[in-house]
Amino acid sequence: MPELPEVETIARLVRPGLVGRTVTGARVHWERSLGGESAAAFAACARGLSIDGVGRRGKYILIATSRGGEPHGAFVVHLRMTGRLHVEDAHAPPSPYVRVALTLDDGRELHFVDVRKFGRFVHAQQPASLLAHLGPEPLEDAFTADAFARLLRSRRRALKPLLLDQEFVAGLGNIYVDESLHAAGLHPLRRSDRVPRGKADALHAAIREVLTEAIRREGSSFDAFYRTPEGSPGSYQDQFRVYGRGGKPCRTCGRALRRIVVAGRGTHLCTRCQPAPRRGPAPAVRARRAVRADAASIARIHVAAWRAAYAGLVPQEHLDALTVRHRRKLWEHLIGRPPEPDHATFVLARGSEVLGFADAGRSRDADDARDRAGEVQAIYVRPELIGHGHGRRLFAHALAHLRRRGFAEATVWVLAGNERARRFYEAAGFAADGGRTVWHGSGAALPEIRLRRELP
Ligand SMILES: [Zn+2]
Repeated sequence: MPELPEVETIARLVRPGLVGRTVTGARVHWERSLGGESAAAFAACARGLSIDGVGRRGKYILIATSRGGEPHGAFVVHLRMTGRLHVEDAHAPPSPYVRVALTLDDGRELHFVDVRKFGRFVHAQQPASLLAHLGPEPLEDAFTADAFARLLRSRRRALKPLLLDQEFVAGLGNIYVDESLHAAGLHPLRRSDRVPRGKADALHAAIREVLTEAIRREGSSFDAFYRTPEGSPGSYQDQFRVYGRGGKPCRTCGRALRRIVVAGRGTHLCTRCQPAPRRGPAPAVRARRAVRADAASIARIHVAAWRAAYAGLVPQEHLDALTVRHRRKLWEHLIGRPPEPDHATFVLARGSEVLGFADAGRSRDADDARDRAGEVQAIYVRPELIGHGHGRRLFAHALAHLRRRGFAEATVWVLAGNERARRFYEAAGFAADGGRTVWHGSGAALPEIRLRRELP
């Protein structure tokens, strides 16, 4: 499949035979190559156009045209799999695969040859808008190392599929991406925003060097349909460092090259020169104030914890009635509009992942008239994290919040049967206060112990 160097080579191949010529007519042998236009309309449009230049944008060939001395759009040619352009003498033996032919005023013809018919040959009044989706041209001066490093940082995709994306950078395909990644020593699965600046510069240089050298060698010859002005194939395939060389020794280090599949494309690499991405250190776990977007995560943890803690203690239908959806609404409300100005919900989070939550605020107990008793109302962490100090962290956060709000003491309630939780609070300086209390909620009575501690 032709990539930038092959398309550039074909543009250079046909340019001398086209510039300065006038189109005298068109023959269309496969109308779908016109991308929707009728053969009659295409021929009427093409007749009389002067050809002013032949250029390339990404993998497209642009044949600039004018009429009566005024610029008038361009033929836009996308070769896709097997499309080729040839300028032929009129008496040349006709190829059965010519899909569109333009007759020229010197008696020669421009042939759009396309065995598999995926290519397109259209005339566009506004070629720039047709190609507006394309990313930067990798060989232009504006494509600087700075600009490329910025682009890499702005995306969070694996390098290979990102470089194949024509909207990210135009013109690269499977061959030259594999070659560039090897030259830069970057694994195809490295994430773009984690590529260090030095490596981004190396990749920028590699892309430009590989493409420049491939153009100099008139592209790579990968099938019988590709040919250069002299009829001989491009020769860059002799330079391939990795592409198509799975199992053969790396030209840099000698290790056997590997072939893997990335984003559905055969991908060739050296696992020594292009080490696999290391999993970066996990983001730090930290406690912070909850925001409404945390409500769903909090609700999931809350429901799971309640079902585990209250199983057998309250009628099962109460637990079955607890749904994440219902809890999420409650928590959205609680976080968005706290019932008291002193109320706050905290989450323990690693990156965007919520691992636990706590909330704290004015005591729900009415007997705090003696003064400013705050309450840590709930602390839940995911079961797999229990025993790693995460609960202590949330708890310290909640207590600090109460202290800042001017509370003199804090209370907590613990299910009487939950020895572990009671030990946790006793270790934090809480003492039983008035013995057992019984909480009546949702029609179920649960034996709870009230614990109290002064806040320094
Ligand atoms: Zn190697």
